[in-house]
Amino acid sequence: MGELYKYENTKRIVDKYDFVFKKKYGQNFLMDESILDEIIYSADINKEDVVLEIGPGIGTLTQLLADKAGHVIAIEIDKDLVKILENDTLKDYNNIEIIYNDILKMDIVELISGYKDRKVKVVANLPYYITTPIIMKLLESNAPLESITIMIQKEVAERLVSTHLDKDCGAISLAVQYHSEPSIVCEVSRNAFMPSPNVDSAVVRLKILKEKRVKVTDEELFFNLIKVAFGQRRKTLVNGINNQTSYFKNKEEILKVFDKLGFTPNIRGEKLSMDDYKNLAEEISQRSCVK
Ligand code: SAM
Repeated sequence: MGELYKYENTKRIVDKYDFVFKKKYGQNFLMDESILDEIIYSADINKEDVVLEIGPGIGTLTQLLADKAGHVIAIEIDKDLVKILENDTLKDYNNIEIIYNDILKMDIVELISGYKDRKVKVVANLPYYITTPIIMKLLESNAPLESITIMIQKEVAERLVSTHLDKDCGAISLAVQYHSEPSIVCEVSRNAFMPSPNVDSAVVRLKILKEKRVKVTDEELFFNLIKVAFGQRRKTLVNGINNQTSYFKNKEEILKVFDKLGFTPNIRGEKLSMDDYKNLAEEISQRSCVK
């Protein structure tokens, strides 16, 4: 066991069960030993840890995780994989629990509530079609996670670690950096997968911060400002806030606050740092000017 990544082994399983890859579930199975090693090494797993894997596929990464971790919870949406996982590839492991469900419909806090005294680490080769919703769900759940080590599309990975205030930086960059310390572990060629996707990938590690990066009184307001700012990149932030929120009575009020905070009147959202958003959110929190 543990060598499912070899082309002939993946092919044997796929053929034996007449498995049909489903594009709609982002099924691209990893077949590169050195990348699997990198994932396992950077996730830093030991026998005390509980690993939450999203999308085990035929169990290639799951086997390696189970060898290192105390317990693995694997969430898989595709019930066509039940036979493969339970009668074949994972049948000899007694520390793997497979749940057939859509990760986006699950309550993450509840899912790991039985492991309060253990470190919980998320490790996954994520389905590309829902990378951002999964990351946001994990972070916004505020579940006590230690780290999130994930294979994602290379461009999204670059976005997550981007700190320069430019077009690479998006609402997701600020959200990820608010909750964690992100780093790119390695880049991965599209040829490392079966079938090969039409984009390259990267492994990213998010070390969850014990204290959020900035302290904000009203987290919802803070993220709503970020959403407004990045939702309408071509508009100035003043117009975005004026048109889409009721935090201020009119544009003049917004401009007064901008002036106080040192923002130019026609500044765009992507030019503000996390501290700038924090200051703006605090300023709004303190005012009693909500319409
Ligand atoms: N871990 C395997 C590997 O590395 O070879 C498979 C990774 S494949 C990129 C993504 C996996 O996520 C597939 O098994 C797919 O069926 C599963 N998946 C897709 N959407 C899902 C969802 N919403 N919830 C849980 N699993 C999902």
